Amino acid sequence: AYEAAVAARNKDDLRSPICCILGHVDTGKTKLLDKIRQTNVQEGEAGGITQQIGATYFPVDAIKQKTQVVNTAGTQEYKIPGLLIIDTPGHESFTNLRSRGSSLCNIAILVVDIMHYLEPQTLESLRLLRDRKTPFIVALNKIDRIYGWEATPDNGFQDSLAKQKPAVQREFADRVQKTILAFAEQGLNSVLYYENKNFARNVSLVPTSAITGEGVPDMIMLLVNLTQQRMSESLMYLSTLECTVLEVKVIEGLGTTIDVVLSNGILHEGDKIVVCGLNGPIITQVRALLTPQPLRELRIKSQYVHHKEVKAALGVKIAAPDLEKAIAGSRLLVCGPDDDEEELAEEVMSDLTSLMESIDKS
Ligand code: GDP
Repeated sequence: AYEAAVAARNKDDLRSPICCILGHVDTGKTKLLDKIRQTNVQEGEAGGITQQIGATYFPVDAIKQKTQVVNTAGTQEYKIPGLLIIDTPGHESFTNLRSRGSSLCNIAILVVDIMHYLEPQTLESLRLLRDRKTPFIVALNKIDRIYGWEATPDNGFQDSLAKQKPAVQREFADRVQKTILAFAEQGLNSVLYYENKNFARNVSLVPTSAITGEGVPDMIMLLVNLTQQRMSESLMYLSTLECTVLEVKVIEGLGTTIDVVLSNGILHEGDKIVVCGLNGPIITQVRALLTPQPLRELRIKSQYVHHKEVKAALGVKIAAPDLEKAIAGSRLLVCGPDDDEEELAEEVMSDLTSLMESIDKS
C-alpha cells in the first residue's frame, strides 16, 4: 500500500517547507523579511509571491528569480514547490509551531549581527532549535556596517566581497573568525556556507545585509539546498493534517477568528474542527477559510478571498463559531466521519499544560 501511495504521488501533492526567523532583538529579522518579500516592481506579480495570513508564500518561480544572481551557471536544482516563510519573527511563533515536542518549522534562519556576535537571545534561540532538532542557517547580518563597505545592491555575497578593499576583506574575515569561535564555545561547528562540505555537521554562515540586499540571494539559495537535503521524503509530500493556531483575533464582521498555519494536509470549508480552549475543547465547524485579497484587487470590497479548500503549506484565517477561548499554539484537528470526537478532544487538550506554561513565560 505504501508503494502504491508513493507511485500515486504527483507534483500537485508536493508540500512546501515552512521557514521561521529567530534571533536577538535588533539583529535585523524584520528588515530581512521585508527584503525577501520585496518584489521586483518591473516584473509585477510574475514571481507570484503571495501575502498570506501570518506568512508569505514564495512559489518556486519567485525563488528562481530571487536567486538568479547566484545561479549564473544555471546548475541549481529546485525540487521544492515553494517556501512558506512565517512573518512574525522570534521565539513565539517558532515555539507555537510545534507538534509533540518536535517542530513544524522545517527550517530556520538564525539572525546574528556581525557587529555584535552572539547575544543572549541568540543563545536562547540556539537552545530552541536544538531541542526541536530544527535544521537552521545563520544569517550574519549587517555586513554593510563593516567600515568602508561598498555596496552593490542585491548582489550575490561572494561577488560583493571580491569587490571590497583589502582592509574591508580583512575585517570581514576577522569578524567571521570571531563568530565561528563564539559558536564553537556553544559546541557548534560553523563555517561560511560556500566552504561548507557537510550540511549535517556544520552550520552554514551566510553573510547578509538587509539594507543593501547583498547576500539575500545566497540565503534563499541556501534555504532551498538545505531543505532539499535535510527534509525527509515524507515531509515533502502532502499527508496527514498538521495545523497549528498562531493567533486568536477578533475581526469586525467575522467575530473571533483563528489564524492558523496549515503545515500538512488539506482543510475544507465545512470541516468539523477541534482545538484546545481555555475552558475545555472547542468543537466547531469551519464557516470560512480566508486569505488576504491580492494587492491589485484592493478596490474589491471584501478584505479576504474565500476558499473551498486549502493545501499545505500556507497561512489561513478560519472563521467559525465559538472560537473566543481558543489558545494560540494549540493544534487543530479535523474530525472526519470515522473519527471519535472525544478522543480528538482529549488529544488537543493534552497540550493545555504546556501551552499555559509558555503563556505564563511570555
Ligand atoms: P529585529 O528586532 O531583529 O526585527 O530588527 P529590525 O529588523 O527591526 O532591525 C533593527 C535595526 O537594525 C533597524 O534600525 C534596521 O534598520 C537596522 N538593520 C537591520 N538590518 C540591517 C543591515 O543589514 N544593515 C544595517 N546597516 N542596518 C540594519
